[in-house]
Amino acid sequence: MSTKRDYYEILGVSKTASQDEIKKAYRKVAMQYHPDRNPGNKEAEEHFKEAAEAYEVLSDPDKRGQYDRFGHAGMGNRGFGGSGHMNMEDIFSNFGDIFGEDIFGSFFGGGARGGGGRRSRGGARGSNLRVKIKLTYEEIAKGANKKIKVKKHVTCSTCNGLGAKDRNAFQTCTTCQGSGQVRKVTQTFLGQMQTVTTCPTCNGEGQVITNKCTACKGEGRQYGEETVSIDIPAGVMEGMQLSMSGKGNAGERGGAPGDLLILIEEEPHPELQREGLNVAYDLHISFPDAAFGIQVEVPTIDGKAKIKVPAGTHSGKIFRLKGKGFPSVNSYEKGDQLIHVNVWTPQTLTAEEKNMLEKLQASGNFKPNPEKSEKGFFEKVRDIFS
Ligand SMILES: [Zn+2]
Ligand SMILES: [Zn+2]
Repeated sequence: MSTKRDYYEILGVSKTASQDEIKKAYRKVAMQYHPDRNPGNKEAEEHFKEAAEAYEVLSDPDKRGQYDRFGHAGMGNRGFGGSGHMNMEDIFSNFGDIFGEDIFGSFFGGGARGGGGRRSRGGARGSNLRVKIKLTYEEIAKGANKKIKVKKHVTCSTCNGLGAKDRNAFQTCTTCQGSGQVRKVTQTFLGQMQTVTTCPTCNGEGQVITNKCTACKGEGRQYGEETVSIDIPAGVMEGMQLSMSGKGNAGERGGAPGDLLILIEEEPHPELQREGLNVAYDLHISFPDAAFGIQVEVPTIDGKAKIKVPAGTHSGKIFRLKGKGFPSVNSYEKGDQLIHVNVWTPQTLTAEEKNMLEKLQASGNFKPNPEKSEKGFFEKVRDIFS
């Protein structure tokens, strides 16, 4: 190829394309011209390499800026210069990052894991771990630091994750000559299909250990325990999942560790009930207290609070303590505490009490007056949730 095509043209995107569009476009072109789909097709291979080069430049804001200003001339000494192309190894090794691990495994039949994106980084990635953490309302309100012991695969302390006695105990795998993958031609009803699969001898690592670490039997990791300090932000909710990158199981032989996923559980509160950011509390008072008014102490998620129940308070009245609810985990918003007043009606009466109440019953002052009553239930519900 004497003249190079425009990078934007190669990927079929406009000059103003976003990083996301560029990624998507590259993915499409790479799939179309992937060597496994076009075995022995030189032209497809050229297109494939060309697309990888275009992506390499356009996905990097610095290189893209350079290219926008100076065109191909600006790329001169940046590694593509003379030879013009990246090699296939480089292209494949970038796939893991661009497509995610499993795309090529599923598209190109055979667990090749992106044509070997992980080979240079040691063994298989560690798996994710899941733990549950139970928090009280008080802890959720303020945020909490929890130190928990996690039983998991940890890096082998004897070999430091190497899996071998020392660095000289590695040998290039003879099955795949170090490439980590083997090509296989199979007959299908569609005709010949070439598939790339992970080398079964070295599991895609390209090398085998001749002298394994005895402590971990060559795995580079051991079953152990780690105390993990987890900072939980204020305002989390039941069912939320936090993730700590790299705190899961250690990978094999220096492979990347998995993540620690933390599932939040709320410990029920004996007196308070959470409703989103708000907190509800049922207050029970006697009829005389409702009639005379009273000062009471109520629990909140941040200690006790004193409230004044005014004389003549109706049963069903709702008081609102502004800002005494939960903080929002992702904004400065704060909920309220709602206090629902319940006036207690005695279940049994002595003769004397009955006598007194009969007198009150006769008084017109004790007849319910809906006009002056606490507002209706529906209205109240609307208020609370608006
Ligand atoms: Zn070891
Ligand atoms: Zn091999």
